[in-house]
Amino acid sequence: TDFKSDKQPTWCPGCGDFGTMNGMMKALANTGNSPDDTFVVAGIGCSGKIGTYMHSYALHGVHGRALPVGTGVKLANPDLEVMVAGGDGDGYSIGAGHFVHAVRRNVDMTYVVMDNRIYGLTKGQASPTSREDFETSTTPEGSKQPPVNPLALALASGASFIAQSFSSDAMRHTEIVQKAIEHDGFGFVNVFSPCVTFNDVDTYDYFRDSLVDLAEEDDYDPSDREQAKDAILDADKEYMGVLYENEDSVPYSERHGLDSDMSDIPDGAPEDAMDLVREFY
Ligand code: SF4
Repeated sequence: TDFKSDKQPTWCPGCGDFGTMNGMMKALANTGNSPDDTFVVAGIGCSGKIGTYMHSYALHGVHGRALPVGTGVKLANPDLEVMVAGGDGDGYSIGAGHFVHAVRRNVDMTYVVMDNRIYGLTKGQASPTSREDFETSTTPEGSKQPPVNPLALALASGASFIAQSFSSDAMRHTEIVQKAIEHDGFGFVNVFSPCVTFNDVDTYDYFRDSLVDLAEEDDYDPSDREQAKDAILDADKEYMGVLYENEDSVPYSERHGLDSDMSDIPDGAPEDAMDLVREFY
């Protein structure tokens, strides 16, 4: 797509991040965006390299801080399509506080987390979503903690859109990210994106065999928060699809009249734009 840069990814062959990124690029194209109206903000980690591999405006943020940067970009220029990307370590450990607040602010942007349940770039330490008992270099006798459930964290924080996808299911992944982009507010997608080098438990085969696709569950209604809660807290199953969408979601900028008129900010006046952002933060 137009969104592919000429840089060759240095991800390990077979890494789930390839599929995750391809779906993001297709979803952006399918929703009528172009590289010059798109801004990708990435965190730190293997996933953090994505801004280099995509052809758009991009910023490689500080560890765990991609969301506040993305929020600032969107508020400073509401015309941009803002997509924030990161990993499970970046987003749910050091960035967990930012995640909760970005969710409840409901700024109109998309957050894609490449969840491989391990720290890949730093060579295989337990991450916030690693399973209990998972043996890694930092948990040689197995992790002693239950994993964070990012979907539950999002729901409890007042999320207006919660989805989960799988990097290897190209069509469904693209479709799910597309729905997150189209959502009016903060579109959160947790993507299972296997790390083939350091995680031999949460593999492609595991996700292929175990994920339940909500598109095949006739009586599932994503606008029903109670049903979403049950699915998200289901200890026996993991779901793929849109788990929850508040169809009455009103994004932050609209609630506070920020979309109103940016035309009084002269071109090349970043200080004025920053004042506006500060005023509302
Ligand atoms: Fe992907 Fe894991 Fe390699 Fe990182 S270490 S590029 S997450 S396979």
